[in-house]
Amino acid sequence: MLSPARNDEVLGGLAGIRAWQEEFCRDLHRHPELSHQEHRTAGLIAERLRGAGLEVHEGVGGTGVVGILRNGDGAGVLLRADIDALPVREATGLPYASEVSGKDAAGNEVPVMHACGHDVHVTCLLGAAQLLAEHTDQWHGTLVTLFQPAEEVGDGARTMVGDGLAGLLPRLDVALAQHVFPIPAGIVGTHSGPFLAAADSMRITVHGRGGHGSMPQATIDPVVLAAMIVIRLQTVVSREVAPTETAVLTVGSVDAGTKSNVIADHAVLQLNIRTYSESTRTAILDAIKRIVTAECQASGSPREPEFELFDRFPVTDNDAETTHRVVDAFTAYFGKRRVDVPMGSASEDFSDIPDALGVPYTYWGFGGIDPDTYAEALRAGRIAQDIPVNHSPAFAPVLQPTLDTGTEALIVGALAWLT
Ligand code: ZN
Ligand code: ZN
Repeated sequence: MLSPARNDEVLGGLAGIRAWQEEFCRDLHRHPELSHQEHRTAGLIAERLRGAGLEVHEGVGGTGVVGILRNGDGAGVLLRADIDALPVREATGLPYASEVSGKDAAGNEVPVMHACGHDVHVTCLLGAAQLLAEHTDQWHGTLVTLFQPAEEVGDGARTMVGDGLAGLLPRLDVALAQHVFPIPAGIVGTHSGPFLAAADSMRITVHGRGGHGSMPQATIDPVVLAAMIVIRLQTVVSREVAPTETAVLTVGSVDAGTKSNVIADHAVLQLNIRTYSESTRTAILDAIKRIVTAECQASGSPREPEFELFDRFPVTDNDAETTHRVVDAFTAYFGKRRVDVPMGSASEDFSDIPDALGVPYTYWGFGGIDPDTYAEALRAGRIAQDIPVNHSPAFAPVLQPTLDTGTEALIVGALAWLT
């Protein structure tokens, strides 16, 4: 059973790490790095972990870092933080705002910003590692801290798994991860079951026969074909998904033709699909293929359509037993600061790691918005207008109590197993 006294003992050290955590977080914020390019960040993480006395593995899946602390018999707990930034031009006006630019995967020069709060995640996990390392008399078992690159492009977790992650790790019982959200700083929340959506992007190429805009009878018009597909796809969620399920199917891009009087020979559609279960995911992907193929036949398309899936994220589906254990621990420690956070339609690739390792997991959110600012926006009915969300150029969590809360949550969560 959970002992709040043990939490207090370990977290009594929080005041001692606050100064370096805040400085470290500001430094990371000022020096964001794009997915798969987190070299400076990874170096700083490894240095801190070594300083805290952990066994450190660098270069796992490129820029991933793993720190291991073996402290006798007991459970194995993995805590994960993602470390990459986004191609966003910062507009927070903070004194430590990023002015950095970098080259994206396509070679374009882009502004770079920690617009998703991963700088906060790194700082909290390093703080938790240090406090657990300084208080090994308060727990036993094995702690694994995993710093994952390239969450924003959806393949950092898979890259670490593919690079032999399992071979580095001791036996694990649970994996835990967290994300800072645009809710009041100081609160932490989760729920069991689906927490974040699976995401799939699909590029569909449909073929027609090009020709003169004045002689449609000699062509097969891919613009009309694409239009029929866009309309018919609206029936997938409304007519094929059960009302108790939820899903999103967005056609984000339609591209065909170059000139008003030329009928093009093909069209390209790009779709984004969000689902919360494997069965719905499969059903929707199958329905898209069925509808597109049938519409191509209806138009007399000369070639089969082509389908390409990309930017795929797994569903984050919190294990019930694991989540209850964390919620009990959070309730005992945080009291009223422990809330229920509703299911979101964003996506994460964290679950690729516990799924590959065959361990249960849970994932929670914690607040990053100044509580007074949030309360004011709530009173004025202006949450949507005044509170920036993740990926916005204005999103920057307040350092406190965000860093304290994220560090506390990781330690309280880990200690629920490291008895
Ligand atoms: Zn993000
Ligand atoms: Zn994120």
